[in-house]
Amino acid sequence: MIDIANATVYRQQTRALDRFSLSIECGERVAILGPNGAGKSTLLKLISRELYPVVQADSHVRLFGSETVHLWQLRSRIGFVSQELQEDYTPYTQALDVILSGFFGAVGTHDHLQPTPEQITRARQLLAQLGMGAHEQTMFQRLSTGQQRRLLLARALVHEPQALIFDEPASGLDMGAAAAMLELLRGFCREQRSIMIATHHVDEIIPEIERVVLIQNGRVVADGPKAEILTAERLSALYGTPLTLRQEDGWYRCWHARV
Ligand code: ADP
Repeated sequence: MIDIANATVYRQQTRALDRFSLSIECGERVAILGPNGAGKSTLLKLISRELYPVVQADSHVRLFGSETVHLWQLRSRIGFVSQELQEDYTPYTQALDVILSGFFGAVGTHDHLQPTPEQITRARQLLAQLGMGAHEQTMFQRLSTGQQRRLLLARALVHEPQALIFDEPASGLDMGAAAAMLELLRGFCREQRSIMIATHHVDEIIPEIERVVLIQNGRVVADGPKAEILTAERLSALYGTPLTLRQEDGWYRCWHARV
């Protein structure tokens, strides 16, 4: 699904990804874990074609086997949700229109984008599935952070994509909203679809995730099965501070080790 080789990406003067390589097969469930500034958001923007790598002979970014996948095709095959999208989303758009905007790859609604009756039905179904049927006309800015994030998830799912890429799914949400969001993601995984979560919180790594990639300073520092990669030693090194890690029922918790 994703094949990135030796990609170097600059954000102004900063080398945000440094000869970065990563390959993800269709159907895989992967978490990208790393501290702030590690390059996670840059990686997601590289995949969503918002950023491009420096041209180098041995470097490529292939999505679904192609270096030239059409943006529209990409959007219908991979759903993207990010905190940045939530922050930038037009505040006065009504909830149903937020979902409908996914059909057009748009942010907000515009007069020239006219949804079909089928698209409206689908958007209403998704709204109801999220338990937000009563909020069809509520403006985005009036919704709670958790409700906004659920809407953006529904927006990403309108095309029934094969894969979902989610940047920090539970950050900024209270415990109830975070649990609800993570349960929605677990439901998505149960439909046998791919998921890639980028986060700096191990507690967002849902049990369905099988593979963890640790990134630091724009490079992959470890990549493998979750149980092998998620150790206190590795995470302490990654975050530069002693950490204690616990696993219970497939969920991980990590906290600062008092020494
Ligand atoms: P993460 O998502 O892991 O926190 P980012 O991909 O946002 O990391 O950032 C990687 C590096 O790129 C950091 O050093 C960050 O400061 C830098 N960076 C990110 N966005 C910008 C930007 N818009 N302009 C300049 N530098 C940026």
